[in-house]
Amino acid sequence: MLTQIQGLHHVTTLGRAPLANDTFVRLGLGLRRVKKTVNFDAPDVYHLYFGNADADPGTILTYFPRPNARPRTAGTGEVGRTCFAVGTLADWPERLGAAGATDVTLAKRFDQDILTFTGVDGDDLALIPNGGVDPAITGFHSVDLRLADIGPTRDLLEFMGYQIAGHDGDTTRMVLQNAKRPALIDLTASDLPPARQGGGAVHHIAFSVACRARQLEVREALIDDGYEVTEVRDRTYFNAIYFRSPGGVLFEVATDDPGFAVDEPAASLGNALRLPAQHEHLRHDLEEKLVPLPDA
Ligand code: ZN
Repeated sequence: MLTQIQGLHHVTTLGRAPLANDTFVRLGLGLRRVKKTVNFDAPDVYHLYFGNADADPGTILTYFPRPNARPRTAGTGEVGRTCFAVGTLADWPERLGAAGATDVTLAKRFDQDILTFTGVDGDDLALIPNGGVDPAITGFHSVDLRLADIGPTRDLLEFMGYQIAGHDGDTTRMVLQNAKRPALIDLTASDLPPARQGGGAVHHIAFSVACRARQLEVREALIDDGYEVTEVRDRTYFNAIYFRSPGGVLFEVATDDPGFAVDEPAASLGNALRLPAQHEHLRHDLEEKLVPLPDA
């Protein structure tokens, strides 16, 4: 069993209109834009990173907003919902409605309130209160994976250091012992047909490890266990490896270092368009083509 996984690092979703996405996440959800860059693998599309004021792993929600993205078809083999922790739900229903969220619904799960809603990109999100007084999002609460068969993914998570915390209906909650980051993963069994990715679908979820050395240990262990894992990819703000979980969801393992202040001052994160060296020659083109966004 692995001991290097610390919890969640980030969740990356396929968005739609960049300006609407940026406005909803910053002003609606109240997250800070902590990086404005492009998809390193498809640089004609933004990669927008949002998180808490300190851009901590475990708070980072990112989008590839593609203006002409076809809508997704929800199904199995994907993330069903990305859930954030807040102190209190207070005025969140009104606030979300005013920001353009739809299907804002209060429900109960695992004996806790959960306010579910659909964001302007068509993504399924939720807020879960932890009993505090501050309504601001503190980071992730959990990620819910909707799967045709939860067994193999449960086994993988157990290999990654998780254990079963409980059940609620068709959902099994997995908890990471000694997590340093928000870490809960819910596995929900469903008989929906396989999902078709498009605008609003989660592209992948990333787990946190402290550094390159821990990441290489995880990579080797996963390969020994039979997973096909990519080489380490330099994402400037972290190093990443990717592998497909057995239920169909793309998993990433990302390093906490070097972090988002590696290429611009912490005080002005997210304002300037940051490009990795291999795409710097595209800057003029990209600055003309990408939809302008207001300062973060
Ligand atoms: Zn990622």
